Amino acid sequence: MNTGQIGIIGAGASGLMAAVSAAWTGKIAAGEIVLMEQQERIGQKILVTGNGKCNLSNRDCSPHTLQDYYRGARAGELERFFTRYSAEDARACFRRMGVLLTARNGYIYPLSGQASTVLDAFRFELERLGVSVRTGCRVLRVRRERGGFMVETEQENLHFRSLILSCGTPAGRKRGEGTDGYRIAASFGHTVLGPWPALVQLRCAGDYWKGLAGVRCAAGITLYAGERDDEVWQERGELLITDYGLSGIPVFQLSRFASRALAEGRPVRALVDFLPGFEEENGDWEDFCAGRFDGFAGRRAEVFFAGLGNKKLLMTALKKNGLGPQDPITQKTRRQAEGVFRSLRRWEVAVVGTNPFSNAQVCAGGIPLREISDDMESLRARGLYLTGELLDVDGKCGGYNLQWAWTSGAIAGRQAAAACGRRP
Ligand SMILES: Cc1cc2nc3c(=O)[nH]c(=O)nc-3n(C[C@H](O)[C@H](O)[C@H](O)COP(=O)(O)OP(=O)(O)OC[C@H]3O[C@@H](n4cnc5c(N)ncnc54)[C@H](O)[C@@H]3O)c2cc1C
Repeated sequence: MNTGQIGIIGAGASGLMAAVSAAWTGKIAAGEIVLMEQQERIGQKILVTGNGKCNLSNRDCSPHTLQDYYRGARAGELERFFTRYSAEDARACFRRMGVLLTARNGYIYPLSGQASTVLDAFRFELERLGVSVRTGCRVLRVRRERGGFMVETEQENLHFRSLILSCGTPAGRKRGEGTDGYRIAASFGHTVLGPWPALVQLRCAGDYWKGLAGVRCAAGITLYAGERDDEVWQERGELLITDYGLSGIPVFQLSRFASRALAEGRPVRALVDFLPGFEEENGDWEDFCAGRFDGFAGRRAEVFFAGLGNKKLLMTALKKNGLGPQDPITQKTRRQAEGVFRSLRRWEVAVVGTNPFSNAQVCAGGIPLREISDDMESLRARGLYLTGELLDVDGKCGGYNLQWAWTSGAIAGRQAAAACGRRP
């Protein structure tokens, strides 16, 4: 049987960072670190991140602001990891590997504008260090045995003293793929919460979506979950309407809450404000509506509402309230016109689902942080480390998920190397 000091299952973002970080400690020979990847190439998901540009971190990611960007059962606990390996440490690591960085609105990217720059940096560094990389190597099972772990792959059995589980999740993978990490962690007694698709589109009830598909506009969205609107979340940003519902950054940010509530059988609805921040430029909304009734009385509906938003949206709002574009707005049609105004500020939709894991950028849920130490070591199995999205941490859009992969991967790699270096 082949043996090594550290086995890393999964050469995605966190596994690559774990491998490089372990080798950089100099505490064990790099050839004793074995990176196992089921795909024929390493780091394939990195290539699709940030629309191919790889939004790898965020300037706002500091140990004091983590709760604003990360979600999960105990997101408040993340400080214990970020004080050990911060976003600044990750940036330094990329500079050390030769990657120049740039920031746009706080979002950090490689200066090249190409995600492949990030992957190449890892590839070249692993090669230079002499880390053993095995591709096309799917791990099927892991067993505890004397002095470490027995890892059963499709080809052979391998023995490692320490093991880093960096298998990622089903997010962005083909249907039915991506659950090995949960299964292996569960075989050591770990809990797996969910998982639920996150940073994903919302599917909504209504027969008008096809007519609205393609509309892109600023919006404020409030999401309510539960029979009595027990939970409420809000976001604002550029909304994208699809032929089945809602997409765009603010929708992605809220989707993990909708996913979870729906999976738990709780109803979810969204109120969309298509005129967010109206008051900042235009004064009081009620006064504005009253003013329209005074100044535009008798005009055709299409004229009466012109200028209030995207045309497709206005036409759908008219239809929704029983008005045609040619209908004059008079005392007779005032109630319908009031309904159009209301629709523009409080468009209510029932959320009936999310798109599947294959469309999601991350998974919410996973292994609870209370089951790992500050060193990313499993509290169920000594010598086993868990990293990345497998854990119950999901970040908002903006580079936070990759940052979590770097932070958790670096800590696990360093600690696994230190532990192997200590043991005779
Ligand atoms: C389309 C898309 C865009 C994204 N854009 C961004 C972005 O711009 N910024 C950001 O911060 N985040 C982004 N993310 C999220 C980010 O990519 C992930 O959070 C991050 O890659 C998670 O790292 P990980 O190491 O946990 O898992 P992964 O990167 O998914 O790596 C897991 C690896 O393990 C391998 N593996 C799984 N099971 C086995 C097994 N049994 N044996 C061997 N190998 C196995 C997989 O093949 C995979 O290579 C995006 C995600 C998607 C899908």
